[in-house]
Amino acid sequence: MSAPESVNNSLVQNWGDKVILVVEDVDTNKIFFDAALRKTNAKILWAKDGREAIEMFQNNIIDLVLMDLQLPILDGYSATREIKKINASIPVIAQTAHVMSGEREKCLEAGCDDYLAKPIRLQILMDTLSKYLNK
Ligand SMILES: [Mg+2]
Repeated sequence: MSAPESVNNSLVQNWGDKVILVVEDVDTNKIFFDAALRKTNAKILWAKDGREAIEMFQNNIIDLVLMDLQLPILDGYSATREIKKINASIPVIAQTAHVMSGEREKCLEAGCDDYLAKPIRLQILMDTLSKYLNK
């Protein structure tokens, strides 16, 4: 009998040729992303505020951006707008702790391709990343 197809297949990924920019200012969230993404073999770049995110995006070839919206110096909405001016084809996935009505619209209006509500579940993170990285 062959192994059943798992609904958790998206948890097993090899993104050894991908570069993901994670923009996050809170250490505990960085630990979550590091643990979740390390086993995918993706190269992870980190930025701790919106200005650093733009600099990292300008200076590196990046396949996907995971963008916190609540950031010091420059927020994730503004950083996303600037990143999309540089290269609109790179997916930006927003992550936020504040789920209120209208925020999704505000996020999409800034140019985000998708949206994750914190606390982010591993399965949802991997499903969303797979959608953009496994093309
Ligand atoms: Mg934050």
